[in-house]
Formats: sequence, structure tokens, C-alpha cells
Amino acid sequence: MVYIAEYIWIDGTEPTTKLRSKAQVIEDGKEPGIWGFDGSSTNQAAGDQSDVVLNPVLVTPDPLRKGDNKLVLCETLLTDMTPHPTNTRAKCAATAEKYGDLDTWFGLEQEYTFFEGIAPLGWPDNGFPAPQGGYYCGVGADEIFGRQVVNAHLEALIYAGIHVSGINAEVMPGQWEFQIGPVSAPAVADELWIARWLLYRIAEDFKGPKGMPISATLAPKPVAGDWNGAGCHTNFSTTEMRESYDACVAAAEALGADGKPELHISNYGAGVEDRLTGAHETQRYDQFSYGVSDRGASIRIPWQVEKAGKGYIEDRRPNANCDPYVTTQMIMDTVCSAAKS
Ligand code: ADP
Ligand code: MN
Ligand code: MN
Ligand code: MN
Repeated sequence: MVYIAEYIWIDGTEPTTKLRSKAQVIEDGKEPGIWGFDGSSTNQAAGDQSDVVLNPVLVTPDPLRKGDNKLVLCETLLTDMTPHPTNTRAKCAATAEKYGDLDTWFGLEQEYTFFEGIAPLGWPDNGFPAPQGGYYCGVGADEIFGRQVVNAHLEALIYAGIHVSGINAEVMPGQWEFQIGPVSAPAVADELWIARWLLYRIAEDFKGPKGMPISATLAPKPVAGDWNGAGCHTNFSTTEMRESYDACVAAAEALGADGKPELHISNYGAGVEDRLTGAHETQRYDQFSYGVSDRGASIRIPWQVEKAGKGYIEDRRPNANCDPYVTTQMIMDTVCSAAKS
């Protein structure tokens, strides 16, 4: 007998990469192995040297095909087995290894927006729904759009063994969030990429009230104007932070050190300046601040952390469309190097 392995990888599209996948039929008893694809069709190679290698990094049960079928998240390699230039995982894994003794954990809050055709799901074709205010964690068909997809996605994540910690409806109608973690890097980012793929894939099977298929987008500011953008708040802790409040404050200080805010912002996802305006629960992209319970700060220290005198902090700046290998790598590099100095 055979099973189906859906190989998933991250392409080379700029400024924001895309997910790609294709299936391989494998004999029972054999593990998913090294494979390859045509990089000239994914912005990852020229036509005359088109082969890019797929190296499995996370294999999960397939919640859609079920049975013995699998999802296989891969990193991309050149044919000499070194990381492909678009492979951001390799650097993340190296930094995680370097600071392995600090045991950094991450919790990623992935926000996203459903669309039906050219409008967010549930929005009228012309004009706008009632202003923001009642939608966040709302209930009822006048406030909530896409819950069936969200529930199907949540069940799929659990089936696949992804460390999903929750879901919620967001401030803008049609906008949602799921959280992955706490898990260490690069595994947390592997899980987020599979969770993103499952979101897109599962939405394909649902239709909106206009009869069109539902799509999900990680666009950071899907609707201009007085509507919340979509982020990927990145919560993190080291062993020391989980034991000491001073270490949490030191981590926030390290992220604000000379040159660091600009460096981080420029790696936190395309269009981050459009989202970090200083309004809609954000700090401006060109300012840095941290504070307890402050959703208008770059870095928030949750109130429970202040009260307990230990825990984790939240970097609110990463965009929904960020690369979690890059954001977690940068945070480990900045915070762990400061903690060691
Ligand atoms: P918010 O109040 O910002 O909406 P959420 O509940 O959506 O917060 O997300 C918080 C995230 O922080 C979750 O993914 C959770 O797993 C993660 N988290 C909790 N404790 C830690 C920790 N010690 N280190 C890193 N992440 C953590
Ligand atoms: Mn959240
Ligand atoms: Mn949120
Ligand atoms: Mn948050």
C-alpha cells in the first residue's frame, strides 16, 4: 500500500514569500525523504540551473486526507546541500543553537483576514460595515464572519499535532487570530508555516454569503483607514525571564538599544510602516517604547508578568506577513547577546 505526503515549502517571491506544495505517493514503511522542484517557477532559480532541493524538517499527520497521509514541511537547499539563499530557517536554527542554554520560548499570535472576492468576508460590496467596536471576540451572524473555517482550521491544527494555544475573532470584522506556542525556535516557526498552509488550504473548501470561495490573507493592512491592521505579536522568554522580572525589563531594554529598533522593524514584514502608525493598538514604526499592559507600545509587558514578577514579554511590531524564522532569529540574537554580555 501507499500513502500521500504533501511537501510544503517557502518560495522566493519578493517582498513577501509564498507557500508552495506538491504531493508525492510513498510506499508504506518508507519515510518522506529528500525531494526537489523547479526553482525557476518559484523565484528561486534561473531556468538553466533550476533544481532546488527539498529537505523535510517537520512531518505531521495530514488532517485533511487523514489515514496514514502526511504533511511534510521542508527547507530549501542548493544541490550541494547547503542552504538556498531564500532559506531563512538555517540562520534561525544556528542562532537557536548558539544560545541553546538560554532556552528561548516563543508564542506567536497570527492575525489574518478572510476575503470573498475583493472585499473582506461579510463586508458589503459597496461601503463599509458598522465601525469597529463590537466585533472583537464577538458572537452572532451580524458580527462574526468565517467561524466555520476557523473551527475547521483549529481542529486540523490539533489533529496535526501543532501546538496551537487558542483562537479569537479580531477587532476588524472578517479578521481572526490563532496562537502557536510556547515552543522554541525554529520549531515554533515550522509550526506556524504549516498552520498558515492549512489555513489557506482549508479556506478553499468554504464559500461566503456571495457564493464565492473564501481566501485568507496575511496582508498587514488589508483595509486602509480606520480599521485595525494584522500583526504577528511575538511573545518570548528565556529561562532567566521565566524566573525574574528584571530579566524581562532587561530584554525590553535590549530591544530598544541603539540601532536595534530600526534593524528589527526593517525585518518585521513588508509594509510594516503602513501598519505601525501609532493608532489601532500600535506604536509608530519610528518610535520605540515598552510598558506594562500598554497596547500602544512596541513591547508590552503583560500585567500578569508584572504581578508575578516573572514571565515573558510581547513584541507587538511584527506584521502578520512576517517570516517567523527571521523575527525569532532577530529577537534571540538581540536579547540573548545582551543577556550574555
Ligand atoms: P494577547 O493578550 O496579546 O492577545 P495571546 O493570549 O493571544 O495574548 O497570546 C499570548 C501568547 O504568549 C500565547 O501564544 C502563549 O502561548 C504565549 N506565552 C505564554 N507564556 C509564554 C512564555 N513564558 N514565553 C513565551 N510565550 C509565552
Ligand atoms: Mn492575542
Ligand atoms: Mn490580536
Ligand atoms: Mn498580543
